[in-house]
Amino acid sequence: MAAGILVSSKTELKRREKLKKKAKSGGFESMNLSPNVFRGVKRKGYRVPTPIQRKTMPIILAGADVVAMARTGSGKTAAFLIPMLEKLKQHVPQGGVRALILSPTRDLALQTLKFTKELGRFTDLRISLLVGGDSMESQFEELAQNPDIIIATPGRLMHHLSEVDDMSLRTVEYVVFDEADCLFSMGFAEQLHQILTQLTENRQTLLFSATLPSALAEFAKAGLREPHLVRLDLESRISPDLKLNFFTLRHEEKNAALLYLVREQISFDQQSLIFVSTKHHVEFLNNLFREEGIEASVCYGDMDQDARKIHVSKFRARKTMLLIVTDIAARGIDIPLLDNVINWDFPPKPKLFVHRVGRAARAGRTGTAYSFLTAEDMPYLLDLHLFLSKPIRAAPTEEEVLQDMDGVMSKIDQAIANGDTVYGRFPQTVIDLVSDRVREIIDSSAELTSLLKASTNAFAKDLPREGLHPIYKNVLGGNELTALAFSERLKTFRPKQTILEAEGEAGSFGQWGYVMKKKEAVHEEDIYMGQEKRSNDLVAKEEMPEITSSKEKKKKVSGSKRKAKTFKDDEYFISAVPTNQHLEAGLMVRANEGFESNRHCTLPSPSL
Ligand code: AMP
Repeated sequence: MAAGILVSSKTELKRREKLKKKAKSGGFESMNLSPNVFRGVKRKGYRVPTPIQRKTMPIILAGADVVAMARTGSGKTAAFLIPMLEKLKQHVPQGGVRALILSPTRDLALQTLKFTKELGRFTDLRISLLVGGDSMESQFEELAQNPDIIIATPGRLMHHLSEVDDMSLRTVEYVVFDEADCLFSMGFAEQLHQILTQLTENRQTLLFSATLPSALAEFAKAGLREPHLVRLDLESRISPDLKLNFFTLRHEEKNAALLYLVREQISFDQQSLIFVSTKHHVEFLNNLFREEGIEASVCYGDMDQDARKIHVSKFRARKTMLLIVTDIAARGIDIPLLDNVINWDFPPKPKLFVHRVGRAARAGRTGTAYSFLTAEDMPYLLDLHLFLSKPIRAAPTEEEVLQDMDGVMSKIDQAIANGDTVYGRFPQTVIDLVSDRVREIIDSSAELTSLLKASTNAFAKDLPREGLHPIYKNVLGGNELTALAFSERLKTFRPKQTILEAEGEAGSFGQWGYVMKKKEAVHEEDIYMGQEKRSNDLVAKEEMPEITSSKEKKKKVSGSKRKAKTFKDDEYFISAVPTNQHLEAGLMVRANEGFESNRHCTLPSPSL
């Protein structure tokens, strides 16, 4: 008997110790969840809470309001869904709507609905989805089923509230503003304030947001009761398992650099998310990849819902290894495991960078972020590193490497090992080679040419040209104003002739002008022939520069299609050190074109 008591007290002790350990572990076990909710979490495959879940869930479960700064990929959705399920527990037939989740986009709302159903599979809670794009009638029917939870976009929710007289939010006990910064930047502020007025005082309110702009902080002050602010340490917001690679290049080299990365740098079994600024860039890159035999998935804001679903599920099923997205579209996509993030356009805000790359190197996996940087992006790079409190270094120049090969390289290796980030160039030979190929592909496809134009224009924000500042209006006399106007016009003047032709007319370079005209005539003929045959050896690198003196001719050349086999042929490959002076002159003309197109891209890419 005594032995029996001893055994049972020993077992009890062990059980208690086990419970204590679990409670200390900070795992889901320590959160005292009801069996049905806990089973749902386990079934979903969550073993340990993510940092944002560990920090927010105990506070939410205790009933307090919370402002949590968390990005997509941090596990934020479960952080508010699990406590919600715990609070609601089961369906209450006459209880009315007890929880309301507001999402900025239809996709995010759908994603949240999916998670709610999965996590709440062992409860009988009823959910209604109120988002634009679905019929109002079917949503009326859902509302008639007495849902416990509404997941909605603000616009559609307001629409229902104005249409249905007896619809009320007075029974709501638990409100979540998900991706609140996005809700605000998408212009829902007014609706959100209106929704607040329809709620009762004794509700619990949660606000999840990647960033906390001042308008949002004001909103939180007004709508939340002594909220706890939860944010992860800045450093830990970028996974330590994420490698950061920054490449400096010129805007017009980006396509070549991307093709090279995808083809040569990134292993074929890795998945990458490519961030660009606009849907035109998404379409352009998608077409470019297709021409190169690479199938990618795409996703942008106003894309057709069915098409978007197909694209994303292909990527999730690993049938495609690339997903090209814009920032807004990326918010509603759930991709649990990702190897690489490529910033084709550098994000102008550090938090956006953190948000984007937060999708890689998750759950114990490693990952890499590749970012392209043009000269205009450099201040953003510095800004990002100030934000991350992380040192950044330039890769040693070729001279430095040559002078002190071991010393410089070992120092940079040491810096990388210490966690410093390094920015450097792509090998120019690689860029040149692939650029040629890219140019060929674009020139041979009318669709790509027009998509390229659209994406370049999407960047060019046409600000009206400015005149002299009014505070100087009295400083200048009439003559000076005329002189200024003339010199302003001169700045935009583009001569139709080459310098040699112009000089030739003036008399001093008569012989050269004659040569230029003759050369032009000969080459014009060549070009027409080349266009007809399409596959002839154009040796265009040598011929193009001289004929670019007229826009008309330039168009004709760009329409020509060169054979793929020529671009790798050593005979026509442009060396870094030009051996031919015509070629060099030609590159100068091209460089000018490059500057022109670059000019459109100097404005920072649009943020969220
Ligand atoms: P979210 O940040 O809510 O978009 O979640 C990103 C991804 O992380 C989703 O695929 C979730 O299913 C997943 N996730 C959330 N919490 C956990 C967890 N505790 N363990 C593993 N995966 C999780």
